[in-house]
This record gives sequence, C-alpha cells and structure tokens, in this order.
Amino acid sequence: MSRIVKILLSMCAAVFVSQAAAQETQKVKGPDERYKVDILVIVAHPDDEGAVTPYLAKAIYDLHKTVGVVFGTRGGSGGNDYRREHGPAMADVREIEARQACAKLGIDKVWFLGGKDTASQNVLNSLANWGHGASLEELVRIVRLTRPEVIITWLPSIFIGENHGDHQAAGVLATEAFDAAADPTVFPAQLAGASKRLEPYLENLTPWQPKKIYYFSDANNQKQFAGKGFAYSVREISPSQKKPYWLLAMRSAESHLTQFPDDINRWANLNDEEIQKAMSDPSKLWWSDPETLIFGKSAVAAKPTDDVFAGIDDSAAMRIQPSPFDNGSHANQLRVGGPWAFYAEFRKKHQLDDLPVADPPEIMVKSGTTLMIPLIVEHSSTRATTVKIDVAAPQGWRVESGEGRFQLPLEKMTALQVDVAIPSISREEAGAAKPQTIAVRAEIDGKPIGEVKLKVALQNGGVPQ
Ligand SMILES: [Zn+2]
Repeated sequence: MSRIVKILLSMCAAVFVSQAAAQETQKVKGPDERYKVDILVIVAHPDDEGAVTPYLAKAIYDLHKTVGVVFGTRGGSGGNDYRREHGPAMADVREIEARQACAKLGIDKVWFLGGKDTASQNVLNSLANWGHGASLEELVRIVRLTRPEVIITWLPSIFIGENHGDHQAAGVLATEAFDAAADPTVFPAQLAGASKRLEPYLENLTPWQPKKIYYFSDANNQKQFAGKGFAYSVREISPSQKKPYWLLAMRSAESHLTQFPDDINRWANLNDEEIQKAMSDPSKLWWSDPETLIFGKSAVAAKPTDDVFAGIDDSAAMRIQPSPFDNGSHANQLRVGGPWAFYAEFRKKHQLDDLPVADPPEIMVKSGTTLMIPLIVEHSSTRATTVKIDVAAPQGWRVESGEGRFQLPLEKMTALQVDVAIPSISREEAGAAKPQTIAVRAEIDGKPIGEVKLKVALQNGGVPQ
C-alpha cells in the first residue's frame, strides 16, 4: 500500500470520535471583573485629578460607581514647595501623593503611563516627549483591562488658562484610546487569544468600546462651557457622606503637599464646620459652581447635557454597544482565531480584499511538536453558553487539550484553542508526505455552529508555530 493511500485511509479513519461525553464541562475564564470600572479618568499629572474629584465623590459615594485613574506622568518637573527633593526623586514622591489622594476617595486602580513632564504649551512637544505610540499602546491596554463606560479627561484644546501641553496630550491620548480600544486591528497582540499558561506575548484582553467621553478644562473662562455638557453642583451635599462634594474633594487633595503645602496646611487643620465657613465665599472655592463636564461623544443615544450615565445604565442601551466584533448578528459561530482572525480584520481595515489567502488556512509545523489551533466562538453574551468541541485528527495525531465541553463567559466572543501532538517523522517521510487536514467542529445546544479546517504540512525543523 502506498504511503499516500495509507494517509488517505487514515484520513477516512479520522472520524469525529469524541471523548467529550466522558469529560466534565470546563469553565473558560472571563476577564478579571475586579478591574472593571464605570469611569476612567485620564489626566497628565498627579493632582490633575482634583479638577473632577467633586464629581468622582458623587459618583463613588452616591451613584455607587467604580473609578480608575491614569496619570500620563509622575510629575517629576515643576517645583517642590514642601521639601527639597526634586526631579526623579520628586516623581517618586508625587506618585505616592497621587495614590494617597485617590485612595481617600476609595480609588485603588491607579496607573502611570511613564511620560515625562514637558514644560511647554505645545501638545506636540508633550506627545513627542512622552512617546506617543508607546503611551497610546499602554493606555489602550488599560482601557481594554478596565472596560470603562465613561472616560473623563482634559480638553484637548487651547484656551487662556488651559495652556499645558501635557494636559492636552492626556486629552488627545484618551480620545484616541476611546476610538482604538474596540478596534481589533489596533495593538492586536493585546486581544483575546487562548494561549499557554506562561504566555509571554499575548494578553487575552477584550476589545472594548467605552460609551461616552467627557472633557474638563483649566480655561480661565469656564462660563463658555455652560450648556456644552453635563453640569453638576459641587456644593450639593452628599446624601451618604452628609458633606458637600467640594469638601470631599478637598480632603482627597490633602496628600498633594509638594504642590500647595500652604493651602493644605491652612485647611487641613480645620474641622469640617470651620472649613465650610471659610469657603462660604464662592470666590475662594477651587471649582466653579456648577461645573460642566464637556460632552465629547457617545456610542449610545444621549444628549450632551444629559446625566453622564443616561443611556448607559439602562440595559437596552448596553445591548447596542457597538464593537467591530458585533456585526449585529448574534448567531453562534465557530471560526479560526489567532493570527488568521487578525489578518481577516487587517485586510478589511486596509481594504486589501483581493490579497491572496490560503483557503483553508494552512501551516507548516515541526514534526514531534504540538500543533495549536486557535478558535473563536461567537455566542450569546446574555445567557450561559456551553460549547462542545470535537476534533477530527489524522491517525497518529493526539489531541492534548481543547476538546470537550466548555462553559463560556458572558461575552460576545471567546477564544479557545485545540492542542494536538504531532508524531515525529523522518526527514525522508517529511519530504514525501503531503499536507494533511485536521478539522475542528463545534456545537451549541446540539446544533453545529461551524467547522474550522487547517491544512498542515510537517517538516523536520523550522520556527515554532
Ligand atoms: Zn497638571
């Protein structure tokens, strides 16, 4: 019997004999819910967060929202008005001051992009000095990790008073990240791809479209922003804390001693009654009242002046969350994942519709190693789904993992992977053998949802898959 006939016969033998029935359903891990936030604040320097802490106090204490904060720099330039440390040493101090200020409002998700303070009014200087590409990559990573409903950031625009290039750089990056985080062709290695437990490159994050973006500004003339977004009163008394929001914000700022020690020393020793009396003169208050969160854009139906969470909190709006992965059809589907899925999105994004593509997908792998077949299962994000995976492998190939029943997280698509041990063959056999086809099928609720085929050629060496 010729080798080819043997292979053909072995292919026929490669029926879908599943051990799945004998296996327990495995639970596929979803994203880390501890890091999901409602609001992500993206600013330039430690203490910038103070521009919106009255609103954050309201959101955290009375709307029961979760908040994360990203700082573009660690604040190593500028003056130290408290003690003698400067430069990189002061950056070390200011990072702690920022973390302590956030912690006073219960915010423990705080990141620093690693940009360098840039003393200039030109946003382009700041973007260049921070490393625009690397900063955006890290910020998109944080958005995909924290999956915020709302982003609040500095206004990327030049006004008298709003003159710091770093502030505007934070606003530019936040706006770019708002658009980029849901795009699977942007920083694709960050996105979901089932992988080894000790995976060094791929990140298994989730593409994410924040729903709304708002801005705030240091402009001297705040009146010009009236009607441009959601207005809130900093003097409103927190129902849960029995204090005005501006006071909760000021208490949070007491950690920023390197920046305004005289002010802090003046008020930190006052009790709440004394400080409220001292601040009864509106001109002394740090914030205008009302404050406006300037509306940028929204991925849900909402008017600029609506409440920040209008259109977000009702579940109907949540379901229309736009995402490149959500093409409107919620049909269950199995397709090939990993680099093949990326290239499919990549060709679409760059209008390379006629580029040659191997169909079915094909690959050459080293014999005696493990073939990895990345899969994407599209499924319902609103009800529990169990998918059954069966593999039809050529004779002598052994499925190591990825076959059986898998309970999927509540999301629109989940990455899975089938690992198959490939037998060792000699150089001569490798030279003579034709590529073989391996097939993976999936079922949900007993209904087939698709088949992924991979044409595999064996070789004796080469780069790992
Ligand atoms: Zn600043």
